[in-house]
Amino acid sequence: MIQQALHHKFEKFTAPAELKRAGLYPYFRPIEENRDTEVIIQGKRLLMFGSNSYMGLTNHPKIKEAACKAIAQYGSSCSGSRFLNGTSQLHVELEERLAHFVGKESALIFTTGFQTNLGTVSSLVGRHGVIILDELDHASIIEGSRLSFARVLKFAHNDMDDLESILKSLPKEQIKMIVVDGIFSMEGDVCPLPEIVQLANHYKALVMVDDAHALGVIGENGSGTASHFGLTDEVDIIMSTFSKSLASVGGFVASTKEVIDYLKHNSRPLIFSASIPPSAAAAALAALEIIEQEPERLDALWRNTRYLAKAVRSLGFDTNEAETPIIPLYIRDNHLTFHFTQRLFEEGVFVNPVVSPAVPGDSSLVRMSVMATHTLNQLDEAIEKIEKVATELGVFVERNEGKIV
Ligand code: PMP
Repeated sequence: MIQQALHHKFEKFTAPAELKRAGLYPYFRPIEENRDTEVIIQGKRLLMFGSNSYMGLTNHPKIKEAACKAIAQYGSSCSGSRFLNGTSQLHVELEERLAHFVGKESALIFTTGFQTNLGTVSSLVGRHGVIILDELDHASIIEGSRLSFARVLKFAHNDMDDLESILKSLPKEQIKMIVVDGIFSMEGDVCPLPEIVQLANHYKALVMVDDAHALGVIGENGSGTASHFGLTDEVDIIMSTFSKSLASVGGFVASTKEVIDYLKHNSRPLIFSASIPPSAAAAALAALEIIEQEPERLDALWRNTRYLAKAVRSLGFDTNEAETPIIPLYIRDNHLTFHFTQRLFEEGVFVNPVVSPAVPGDSSLVRMSVMATHTLNQLDEAIEKIEKVATELGVFVERNEGKIV
């Protein structure tokens, strides 16, 4: 019955099967062992350049110990929503620490980063307001906007003239909220926050920044995009996730006490979903403590980032100028992107193919991400293999005599 009812959908859904037939299917690969910078898949060791664990902390003994201790004290799950039986002391402590870390009055933990955006963006601006998005904002921001019933307008990526023309066209008294990624998740570039804040002040719009990829990465001690630009007070709402630098799972939003209190009692993705287990809160707390107490890890992340960015640029790759731990290698062809990823996998380097709809059709790319814990040997090994596979497949834009300078 279900086959017949959904036949029209399944009929057009051929891409994964085609990739499998071509031996290029890159998704849902079970990892047998994870050591942050290296993983075991199908019994084989791979260098990990496709993880968001920027600080490389998921195997840190203090974090593992904190998670185990939380399981011993609270069990494996809260078995309920934050609103009812799903708030442990660890959740409350983590919220206080996070608010302090990003420089806001109050914070609220959601079950994932995705739900944080869903539950924040959808709850604050209603059907009479306007949500203004960068066209490359994360999917969770787009879904949150849709749920809000507000009018949703998009400006061209990081294009401040386009943002201004949208703001100018809207009635003064209408509620407007600009939502941007701090560091864009696929391209790795940073939003022009000073210009955004200036326009927002002029046209009376609220500003929300998604710091999923910026927390632990930029700003004082890794406290995010607003801190990086010295604009913490000018940004109204900051959200981020635990699934990247904080070595756990979950998400949070930080803002004024009133905003957080409103979300606590009105945000449906918060109220009607189970909270993160205390072990996940304990892991994030321990990671935050390590990030605050060991700033040399941030230095290592940036040293590795600059090293890899310089190497891929001098190899002649089409990449960006931003130099953040997210390093895109633009291939601009879906098939070649999958082929490049698969060949690297065979050579022992794990990277992620990013094709439409995650990025516009002509921008398909291989996304590499750097960790603080990558060693120079690991970086060199990856660079050597990338050069080998790129030469084999002819994906360089311009050769710089093939030498890393
Ligand atoms: N925002 C951005 C910019 C992201 O890249 C992601 C995840 N990739 C999220 C939100 C959602 O976070 P999570 O994976 O913790 O749900």
